[in-house]
Amino acid sequence: MTVLNKMTSQEVIELENKHGAHNYHPLPVVLSRGEGVYVWDVEGKKYYDFLSAYSAVNQGHCHPKIVDAMTNQAKTLSLTSRAFYNDMLGKYEKFATELFGFDKLLPMNTGAEAVETALKLARKWAYEVKGIDENKAEIVVCENNFHGRTTTIISFSNDPVARKNFGPYTNGFIKIEYNNLKALEKVLDDNKNIAAFLVEPIQGEAGVYVPSEGYLSAAKALCEKHNVLFIADEVQTGIARTGKMLAVDHDNVKPDILILGKALSGGAYPVSAVLANDSIMNVIKPGNHGSTFGGNPIAAAVAIAALEVVAEENLAENAEALGQIFRNELSDFVKENELVKSVRGKGLLNAILINDTEDSSTAWDICIKLRDNGLLAKPTHGNIIRFAPPLVMTEAELRDCIFIIKKIISEFKK
Ligand SMILES: *Cc1c(COP(=O)(O)O)cnc(C)c1O
Repeated sequence: MTVLNKMTSQEVIELENKHGAHNYHPLPVVLSRGEGVYVWDVEGKKYYDFLSAYSAVNQGHCHPKIVDAMTNQAKTLSLTSRAFYNDMLGKYEKFATELFGFDKLLPMNTGAEAVETALKLARKWAYEVKGIDENKAEIVVCENNFHGRTTTIISFSNDPVARKNFGPYTNGFIKIEYNNLKALEKVLDDNKNIAAFLVEPIQGEAGVYVPSEGYLSAAKALCEKHNVLFIADEVQTGIARTGKMLAVDHDNVKPDILILGKALSGGAYPVSAVLANDSIMNVIKPGNHGSTFGGNPIAAAVAIAALEVVAEENLAENAEALGQIFRNELSDFVKENELVKSVRGKGLLNAILINDTEDSSTAWDICIKLRDNGLLAKPTHGNIIRFAPPLVMTEAELRDCIFIIKKIISEFKK
């Protein structure tokens, strides 16, 4: 079949341009293989992956244990739907709920679906447990949030590119400033119909905004005081990315509802989940919510393996240690370099701010140069470059990458 013939990068890019919807603007590099922290393009050039598929590939590309779990399960039983039981889902639910310390798990596939699930769950809890009048529940969210791409989720985004001309929007959301406890306190004091506060422990897509120390624990305390559910969207920050299993662990916060995705499968398969205790999760009854693929046996097998890898290979500890090195090295560099303003992050979720106007192409141009030198990263909002390699990286590899990043930025001419 001609479509399966070997193609050059340029040919592949042209194919996508011609036949695919233009809903992304990828860096021009066409990858055909991955292993650990490395990916290779179709011409055979090797790169460090410094995006990890937006932190889905924390365990490294094609981790053998995860691939084995996936292929063995794929050969045995792939999908039953939830019309019948399968012999993997319960095992996975027991494993994950014990690991994260919740009574129950609701399985979904993508991050956005898990966020939708959490919103539905919080609303139903608000009506049936908290006693808010029907259709009056409000959910508090933060400015510059990113929680996915569904119609409801973009309804409370303030990114005009994600929102414009997709209305009418879903009601029932109140937006407050991120990392602002006064704003949260005010909205909770002023409004008796609040079901939940939905928050990213670090705002990843917005440009790796790390809130002040103690913000999450104080926000959780405010929620408790007002009988409002604290929902942590850990789709990007979870599964050891920030140096702990969950980013909320840095603040010793236990969310009422926990949302996981991305690295829950190590990037092998779409697996997401919502976790909560019985007092919340039990409002969901048969027929209230579901998904044909959610909780399928491949997803269950993959997620168990992906979570085991995190513990077996001490990925949280490694992310913490390497993150310290990365930020130390780059913050020294920032002091003597005009082009970068600052470096920030936690664990191996970091970003540098480019000293240029938000709409300039400097960050993009630097990413092209990094690509040419064997390192793949992508600008996020404004002039920010996110650096998030797989957590299986070694210190020697990280130091090699730091060398490349410093070299390219030092040599960079606008
Ligand atoms: C990526 C992401 C999502 C959406 O996940 P998808 O799998 O792309 O639907 C939701 N929340 C956060 C914080 C994310 O980073």
